[in-house]
Amino acid sequence: MGRQTEHRAPGNPRRSPERQGESREQPTEVGPVSAHTVIRCADWAITPDTTAEAPPLLHEMACTTCGDLSGTNEDFEKTRDWAFRHAGRNPSHTGYREIIHRSWRATLVR
Ligand SMILES: [Zn+2]
Repeated sequence: MGRQTEHRAPGNPRRSPERQGESREQPTEVGPVSAHTVIRCADWAITPDTTAEAPPLLHEMACTTCGDLSGTNEDFEKTRDWAFRHAGRNPSHTGYREIIHRSWRATLVR
């Protein structure tokens, strides 16, 4: 589930005074064109991108002491090797964070 916003130009001459000051309407109140912003409900599905053209899943390691990054690699072992080398050169840098880069895709389902 998600929402899309559409922006409409202000200045509708039929705008009634009691509606002034409203910045948005509920989704069911889109009938009379009087709001600056109309929110329209739409159903979205967001899933991992498994298409052939999707970029591969990439691993990355970050040192939580200095923020240095391993760079991305499809092979997790390569990023872990970077962490071993980084710890060897900087014995006080003992914390690491794994970052996974996974492509996702949003599709409108209705
Ligand atoms: Zn470090």
